[in-house]
Amino acid sequence: MNKSGEHGLIDQIMDVSEHAIYIFSKDDFRIIYANSKAKEIFGEHLVSMTCYRGIETKELPCMNCPFILLQEGQEYVTERYLESFDMKVKIKANCLTWKDGSQVVLCKILDSNELLQKKMGHDMVTWEAYAEKLKLSGELYQSVVSQMGTIVFEYNYDRHTSYTSSLFKEKFGIERIADIDFLKSEPTAALIYKEDIDVYKMLFSGREDDFRQVTCRLKEVSGNIAWYRICIQFIKDDEGRLVRGIGTLKNVDEATKSYETLRYRSEYDVLTNIPNVNRFYIDAGRMILDNEDEKYAIVSFDIDKFKLINDLFGMETGDEVLKHVANVMKERVPEGTLYCRVHSDMFLICIAYEKRGDLIKLIEKIRKGIYRNDFSFDINTSFGIYLIENTQIPINLMCDRANLAARTVKESAMEFCAFYDEQYRKEIIKTTEIEKDMNLAISGKQFLMYLQPKYNLMTGDICGAEVLVRWKHPSKGLIQPNDFIPLFERNGFIRRLDEYMWEETCKTIAGWLAEGKKPVPLSVNISRYHIKNNDLVGVWKRLIRKYNIPTSYLILEITETFFYDSEDLYVVLTKLQKQGFRLEVDDFGSGYSSLNMIRQIPINAIKIDKDFLDKKLASEKGKIVIKHTIAMAKDLQLGVTAEGVETKEHVDFLKSSACDIAQGYFFAKPMPLEEFNKLYYEENG
Ligand code: C2E
Ligand code: MG
Ligand code: MG
Repeated sequence: MNKSGEHGLIDQIMDVSEHAIYIFSKDDFRIIYANSKAKEIFGEHLVSMTCYRGIETKELPCMNCPFILLQEGQEYVTERYLESFDMKVKIKANCLTWKDGSQVVLCKILDSNELLQKKMGHDMVTWEAYAEKLKLSGELYQSVVSQMGTIVFEYNYDRHTSYTSSLFKEKFGIERIADIDFLKSEPTAALIYKEDIDVYKMLFSGREDDFRQVTCRLKEVSGNIAWYRICIQFIKDDEGRLVRGIGTLKNVDEATKSYETLRYRSEYDVLTNIPNVNRFYIDAGRMILDNEDEKYAIVSFDIDKFKLINDLFGMETGDEVLKHVANVMKERVPEGTLYCRVHSDMFLICIAYEKRGDLIKLIEKIRKGIYRNDFSFDINTSFGIYLIENTQIPINLMCDRANLAARTVKESAMEFCAFYDEQYRKEIIKTTEIEKDMNLAISGKQFLMYLQPKYNLMTGDICGAEVLVRWKHPSKGLIQPNDFIPLFERNGFIRRLDEYMWEETCKTIAGWLAEGKKPVPLSVNISRYHIKNNDLVGVWKRLIRKYNIPTSYLILEITETFFYDSEDLYVVLTKLQKQGFRLEVDDFGSGYSSLNMIRQIPINAIKIDKDFLDKKLASEKGKIVIKHTIAMAKDLQLGVTAEGVETKEHVDFLKSSACDIAQGYFFAKPMPLEEFNKLYYEENG
């Protein structure tokens, strides 16, 4: 029997004495139950008559009987004209499954009192008079209710008498209840399972409604503890005085248990048996809002390289690690602290604190607990902390922020926990926005090629230019490379961007050649990303062939930081050099490479970093270092370019050191191609 059907039935039985009720079988229209009021109105022999004969005094079933079409659990209210009463009545019908498995329709005549009045002439039929007649209607309940497996009890407040159906004794070993409220007498009070007493009390708590129901566990005489739905209907007299209480008990153990299991699954993590994130959001959200005076923090943490643990030791070991973490939390977090497993190896804690130090101590405690274990490997964790200041921020956002903080820890090898920092969030947002826009930027031609001229320090003439990208963003304006190149190097987009820039460079040179101009060599930047992830040699071969330009017009700038990892680099650079490209070490002096290291790598020139220049120029000793660096580079047959040349002092010093080429704001800033064309070709004819 489904929920609404069952509930409907019990509901109807509750007010059994107020309305005429009859139940007929859908198979043959036979009435299998009628309550006293129905019998009073339609005659003692109603049961076993068909509904069309007994109720409607017809010989044949009504055409299109709406009740027959009802499906289990459905309810329907209709008006029927009853010929023998010459009156229209409203009937509410419910379709149910009877105990024997057959489908029945339970009908409740809503205008029963009017019918009764008609039947009895003009006698005033009041509910009280009728109730008096009914007295305590034990047998009546018993017949219908035992069919349904429902236990009934009733209490008369005036007379202090009670009725208890025999099923009650069968199940609970108690002959007769002493009060409608089980808690009022020892034997019945003992039936209620301790943990559910508060729920039970809701049956009698201060609300005004006459009908109450709760679901709680009761101890059966067999020792079994089972879930029961307890319904109580309170009946009052005209003055609102409580006259009777009628109760039913229905065993709903199976349904409740499967519901409880489902609920458990929807709120708990099955592997670790700690709450899941849904439950955590609800509980933590409520805790924070309910205790405005407390200070709370959200702590997010995960296991470093958990994937590696799974890969190396198997998923089962991975699962054991997660259970271990859950146990540490169960044992080590202070009372009142909430925690959950979010997914895979990610956990959350919501905790009250006074000082930041309290949080660090707690984290230390958990971290150590996790670290001390019987596994054959180390388990390290990274924690992010979000201190809640504004309680109106949605809980999931707070948790995201704690998680962001945990991510900053991952980037540092030294720390294991970090506080959330608003600045970091802004950076992440910026990054996300850039990532969103970058794909469109190429097709939308938003990446622009800027050229910064390079000058021959001896002659003062332009002898080349470096290609530098600018992003002309439709809403953010011109964005400088430092704001997106590092991100593109991390997410791999640099490959597309650079190939695009290289192609623009080749196009430019081909354009100059087509116009009969002698091109200046253009320097392009090669991100370190390409060495490992790109077929550099192949890409350049294709470009040179496509635009039909000599490689001598191209200088490839490779940053110094490459030189750590580098057999691959050696192979790639050798091939490129063989093809005729000039190779230049960019940002020389900013890292740790020495000329000695560079000697072993096929390179044509170095480009001295601006910072190196600035720092060294500041002292006499530094000046000597630069002079010698330049001299040694020349001894090694390497060309020398200085970048970031900003002042006359720079220029003079570089000239006196025999540096060949300079690039910097002192001469010219990076500029669009048209401007460069004007500057170079118009000046040089
Ligand atoms: P870089 O290759 O070392 O380029 C030189 C940077 O110094 C450029 O910055 C340039 O505008 C700047 N600069 C030039 N003269 C001066 C000066 O006198 N004073 C100062 N303070 N700065 C000067 P920009 O254009 O912002 O580029 C920054 C970096 O971004 C470049 O450093 C390069 O590593 C990278 N980059 C730029 N365009 C590309 C590209 O298309 N692909 C790749 N992979 N990297 C690029
Ligand atoms: Mg460069
Ligand atoms: Mg540089």
